Amino acid sequence: MESTRTNKSINKRIDNLIQSISQINMGRQLNIMEVCGTHTMAISRNGLRELLPPYINLISGPGCPVCVTSINDIDYLLEIIRNYDVSIFTFGDMMKVPGTSSSLYKEKSNGKDINICYSPIDAIEFARNNPQKKVIFVAIGFETTIPLTSVIVKRAYKQSINNFYIYNAHKLIPPALQALLEDREIRIDGFLCPGHVSTIIGSKPYKFIPDKYRIPCAISGFEPLDILSSIEMIVRQLKEGNPKVEVQYTRVVREEGNPTAIKEIEDVFEVTDSVWRGIGNIPNSGLKLRPQYSRFDAKKVFKVKNVNSKEHKTCECGNILKGLKKPTQCKLFSKVCTPESPVGPCMVSSEGTCAAYYKYERFKIR
Ligand code: SF4
Repeated sequence: MESTRTNKSINKRIDNLIQSISQINMGRQLNIMEVCGTHTMAISRNGLRELLPPYINLISGPGCPVCVTSINDIDYLLEIIRNYDVSIFTFGDMMKVPGTSSSLYKEKSNGKDINICYSPIDAIEFARNNPQKKVIFVAIGFETTIPLTSVIVKRAYKQSINNFYIYNAHKLIPPALQALLEDREIRIDGFLCPGHVSTIIGSKPYKFIPDKYRIPCAISGFEPLDILSSIEMIVRQLKEGNPKVEVQYTRVVREEGNPTAIKEIEDVFEVTDSVWRGIGNIPNSGLKLRPQYSRFDAKKVFKVKNVNSKEHKTCECGNILKGLKKPTQCKLFSKVCTPESPVGPCMVSSEGTCAAYYKYERFKIR
């Protein structure tokens, strides 16, 4: 009885939000970009696209950490595996991401020592218990996951675990948003900013978006009500001509973020450029280990030659990660490319846009 009342109240609030959004018609299409794989999945799973008026166009950006890891990084890792006797630890989604000629999954089938882990703690524990092995943790992800990598690197340093390394492909979200805004091909009218990343960095790092580019931002939670409220914030800001960074996800996100986690990141890493799959090099969007910790850098220790990466010719992941195309505009979508047989990373990852469309929207796309 109580849950029926709660559902009715949620449905009522959703109806009100849809009504409120529909009342703000700017007379043109509004491209609202989410930059978080969990938002991408939530939008598709809950059918939010269909609830919105047709001029609200929800597009996905580079918010899936697996998807934005460059093909060069995959190929480099594969070369390390082929040339050195190492144990690799990685998150499961990375296993099937195609490199130019292979993947971690295929190499594991060929007998290479590649292990799925749920946390870098698994990797460092394995290294400590197996001092004869050289253990590499594949460190991917945004500001949300970086603090844990920092903690692990510090632990390896303090405990002199000298057979542990990280293959660092961490990336930072705000510089990527700036790169998208500087790209004249892409038209973005508002950002649904990522909830998880923002719990770490807070709302301040997005301030340049309304200040310099006059684009509204709403930091959103992950429930349908959160996302619709955030969309309402964005269209209202547009209508009022008053772009700013609004925090919808006030349950968790503070203006200053999480200073402890930020300090962890800054203790271990310094900012550098980084190459994003499909987008290319983005200044100041990556991290490198500070000199004190550089001996844990797998790329410095396990050097390889001849990494000549080539993206798949027909895969549109690059355009999808920039919000220029939708998965259904890729010729391979659901015909050649499926979650069982993915051609690009956007279909591999459980947070990828192509995977979200395949799972929830492939029969009802608009
Ligand atoms: S459907 Fe497959 S091939 Fe097409 S863009 Fe997505 S991942 Fe790439």
